[in-house]
Amino acid sequence: MSNESLANLLKEERRFAPPADLAAAANVTGAAYAQAEADRLGFWAEQARRLTWATEPTQTLDWTNPPFAKWFADGKLNVAYNCVDRHVEAGNGDRVALHFEGEPGDSRSITYAELKDEVSKAANALTELGVQAGDRVAVYLPMIPEAVVAMLACARVGAAHSVVFGGFSADAVASRIQDADAKLVITSDGGYRRGKPSALKPAIDEAVAKCPQVEHVLVVRRTGQDTAFTEGRDVWWHDIVGRQSAEHTPQAFDAEHPLFILYTSGTTGKPKGILHTSGGYLTQAAYTHQAVFDLKPETDVYWCTADIGWVTGHSYIVYGPLANGATQVMYEGTPDTPHQGRFWEVVQKYGVTILYTAPTAIRTFMKWGDDIPAKFDLSSLRVLGSVGEPINPEAWIWYRKHIGGDRCPIVDTWWQTETGAMMISPLPGVTETKPGSAQRALPGIGATVVDDEGREVPDGGGGYLVLTEPWPSMLRTIWGDDQRFIDTYWSRFEGKYFAGDGAKKDEDGDIWLLGRVDDVMLVSGHNISTTEVESALVSHPSVAEAAVVGANDETTGQAIVAFVILRGSASETQTLVAELRDHVGATLGPIAKPKRILPVQELPKTRSGKIMRRLLRDVAENRTVGDVTTLADSSVMDLIQSKLPAAGSED
Ligand code: ATP
Ligand code: MG
Repeated sequence: MSNESLANLLKEERRFAPPADLAAAANVTGAAYAQAEADRLGFWAEQARRLTWATEPTQTLDWTNPPFAKWFADGKLNVAYNCVDRHVEAGNGDRVALHFEGEPGDSRSITYAELKDEVSKAANALTELGVQAGDRVAVYLPMIPEAVVAMLACARVGAAHSVVFGGFSADAVASRIQDADAKLVITSDGGYRRGKPSALKPAIDEAVAKCPQVEHVLVVRRTGQDTAFTEGRDVWWHDIVGRQSAEHTPQAFDAEHPLFILYTSGTTGKPKGILHTSGGYLTQAAYTHQAVFDLKPETDVYWCTADIGWVTGHSYIVYGPLANGATQVMYEGTPDTPHQGRFWEVVQKYGVTILYTAPTAIRTFMKWGDDIPAKFDLSSLRVLGSVGEPINPEAWIWYRKHIGGDRCPIVDTWWQTETGAMMISPLPGVTETKPGSAQRALPGIGATVVDDEGREVPDGGGGYLVLTEPWPSMLRTIWGDDQRFIDTYWSRFEGKYFAGDGAKKDEDGDIWLLGRVDDVMLVSGHNISTTEVESALVSHPSVAEAAVVGANDETTGQAIVAFVILRGSASETQTLVAELRDHVGATLGPIAKPKRILPVQELPKTRSGKIMRRLLRDVAENRTVGDVTTLADSSVMDLIQSKLPAAGSED
């Protein structure tokens, strides 16, 4: 066999054709690409018809004042009506919308008819509390059904919600309440986390003390723990919502009416209030949820493990799935409470068919061991999704094998808070998938990779990911700061949206995401992506997770420093470190060999599970570690720093 055919064979091995039965019955076929290419706006106008409009739009895109887009501008709709009422009217009121699974093991299933009543009552309560169309409401809740109800109630009365992740500090909440100028805050006494009640209300009390514009705090009782109450300001959810009528007539709002503000997680700087509006957002959230997961609402049980406080929770727990009439699982707690098989127990209990999770979770499951998912019946699964970071090929293969039984296609979905919905992803009934690649722009979406001058790179080239056409669920601006919106996303490359991510195109033109542009390293004049070095490290049997940064270096410009978490059985030795270095050299070439490899117990991550490389860069460059307020666990940095002197001697 010639070397060339051997190489092709190896390449073939890393491709996975869609399962024949799924492809035969898929919601979307390959024809969608051609259709959207022939008439992009016609394609989106057709997708908008999956919604129920009070006034059908006659316009599709108004791009006369770029980068400020208007989609379906003369249409009117109520987003909550689309997510709830219309399914009841269509005779599906008895279908379960949410199977809620609390961390302590309590559970309840809520049908669409029940959800309609709850949302209507909550909408009436908001009105009683003085909330009007155009207002902002901050939501600070655990993963409980009331979070979904609260968001939909806001949408129903035309108030924009600003959901703040329940793990954020009082200061972080206060700055977000102030920036959005919210007049109501919806929170709870607490939620269950790692086997015990964890309070939320104290952070709101502290935050609201700095926010005089807040008129009321609406409090859900979840844990029953002792909770301070401010007379006149605080209101129990069960009191005020409980006594409302379940009748509420939804009013139609303009397609461009604000639906929500969501602050990005802040891995790169001061949080930005990303503004999304109604008609275009819901169109793309619903379309992508149905196309990318091949959702069959009558039979599928869908589960997205993201928190409601992230955009993934907004678009793929609340708006996309509910607009499509899906049945889904909502889980309150952590994946290892009370045991490390909790997720798989939930999949088995509800017969989950579609699972959407993040690479950080998948790498954690790999670290815990194959034997844990093996104890559960996962045969109901048929489509697996990934989002949040580039997924290392090794983790992709593990996910497919140990969770997907080597039969489920994996959709690696690239998108951002700013894009509102998925942009680049395989289609499970169409795409021959490649581990580690998000592959190509979805139908109706324009994405490519450009060089420094904004020229499209040829197949095989690398550079910056850009979006070349406006899309329905695009952010409309940064709340209160149009100039920052223009500067951040639309100034780097003329007429194109700059995503801030590095990417490359392979020989087939498929797109591979390489992490944030800020994270790309320049070593002896070569651009090397942190993602590729991390994936090379994770492909070694002793490595469970890796984070790579470029640290200033006198001779090479930047030197590659790798922080690795070893797998259960591996132990830290000089030989292992040398072996890992050689392994990276053999995989990517000698230039990519890390100068230093530091085994650590944990990596600094945001609360959505993303690695915070800028903090590791501080450590690698012996600087004081920067802002750690968005870290899930700030003690991790102390642990890592304490390792440094010993590790330094490895050079
Ligand atoms: P901030 O913008 O505040 O730094 P963030 O970018 O982490 O926070 P999100 O909008 O939730 O907030 O994340 C979007 C980013 O996540 C993308 O720009 C990309 O870097 C990464 N990402 C998401 N999905 C994928 C994916 N499938 N493959 C590669 N990277 C992904
Ligand atoms: Mg971002």
